[in-house]
Amino acid sequence: MTLRLYDTATRSVREFSPVTPGKAGLYLCGATVQAPPHIGHIRSGVSFDILVRWLKASGLETTFCRNVTDIDDKILRTADEEGTAWWAVAERNQRAFTRAYDVLGCLPPDVEPRATGHVPEMIVLMRRLIEAGHAYPADGDVYFDITSYEAYGALSGQRPEHMRAAADTDRESAKRDPRDFALWKGAKPGEPTWETPWGPGRPGWHLECSAMATKYLGPVFDIHGGGLDLVFPHHENELAQSRAAGDGFARLWLHNGLVRLSGEKMSKSLGNSLLVDAMVTEVRPVELRYYLGQAHYRSDIDYSREALAEAAAAYQRIEGFVTRATEAADDGQAATRAAAGGLPAAFAAALDDDLRVPQALAVVHETVREGNTALAAGDTAGAVKHAASVRAMLAVLGLDPLAPPWAGRADSGLRDVVDALVTVALEQRQAARLRMDYAAADAIRDQLQAAGIVVEDTPAGPRWELSR
Ligand SMILES: [Zn+2]
Repeated sequence: MTLRLYDTATRSVREFSPVTPGKAGLYLCGATVQAPPHIGHIRSGVSFDILVRWLKASGLETTFCRNVTDIDDKILRTADEEGTAWWAVAERNQRAFTRAYDVLGCLPPDVEPRATGHVPEMIVLMRRLIEAGHAYPADGDVYFDITSYEAYGALSGQRPEHMRAAADTDRESAKRDPRDFALWKGAKPGEPTWETPWGPGRPGWHLECSAMATKYLGPVFDIHGGGLDLVFPHHENELAQSRAAGDGFARLWLHNGLVRLSGEKMSKSLGNSLLVDAMVTEVRPVELRYYLGQAHYRSDIDYSREALAEAAAAYQRIEGFVTRATEAADDGQAATRAAAGGLPAAFAAALDDDLRVPQALAVVHETVREGNTALAAGDTAGAVKHAASVRAMLAVLGLDPLAPPWAGRADSGLRDVVDALVTVALEQRQAARLRMDYAAADAIRDQLQAAGIVVEDTPAGPRWELSR
């Protein structure tokens, strides 16, 4: 095991050495379900899905916990604007997130805890912090006393004297120090509340993640992840609470870069067009996944339609080779069997080096080039070998076109029907050619094209695929 990952807390690349040998526990801050996801939200899911897949491929037994924040100021505001119940807003958007993760082929987490289901765990954590002198109840709220915890600011690399007030409550005067943050928010009229020994109220965002991470992964666990925008205050506060309470908490902190719009600020209308539900009507989900996953996870993605189209074309080149090599194999099973084979050393080395997906993809594309050369030379065995290697690498990246969820997605069953119909049309075209009725032959080809079917004549006879 030589996996090395960049740790935000120490600002260095560190060797991954699991708390329990052979296992890996990961916590990812998931969705605050106030709206459906755009690609910026889901990029985090794709980045950490690649990490989980690579840990599994490296032989580790993973426990992946990704939470849902189902109570929050923004959810309450949306519910208020819509005149809907807060829980209905949360439920609807959580389903949209699940749909988006699924459609992009992210493996489901082992557990997906919701904040509102973990109030007892939060009460226990608050009691520990209050008893240890790190937190105090005031005016119905409960606050964390940042001056009581010496390392506050270490994760985000800030000195407390340079920090601004935590603007997280309407009761600022209740705080001992304006930089103290709310663990628990006291009841306000019309808001949902849960009972605690310090009065009714609702969870603060930071508290819930500490409570849920340690419930499912233990007081010390391997990796805590999230978007770069969560380092401060969210992760700083999670770390402060848990460490102050006496838990070791996460050993490594991983943060993914953000998705930006090239040259433009994300306006609301533009933002809407980047909703995952909208984008998968323009490109195939697997191509969107390739686009979001191809950059190094720590770099920002500057979104543009051109870059998305290039990514789709790059994926189609890989997919085209895998499909042709599999068709060329006399025994279709050969490619499938070989897919279980090993990974090229350069590919594994790239992922072990802080998940360098761009370098890993370069190995994929090089193998595709070699495979295409083998195909062109009629070296079917060589092509099948290369295809197996490509598929093994794609599986780690969640992009194998012949494996679930991509294989036969949506068109399974229908593909056989279309194949039969296209075969009939092609036989008629061939018959028209034989009687030298080229106008009729061309008309058949044009009609197929208009229906979105591209026919390619190959030495083995015509083959078809859907145009994109
Ligand atoms: Zn969190």
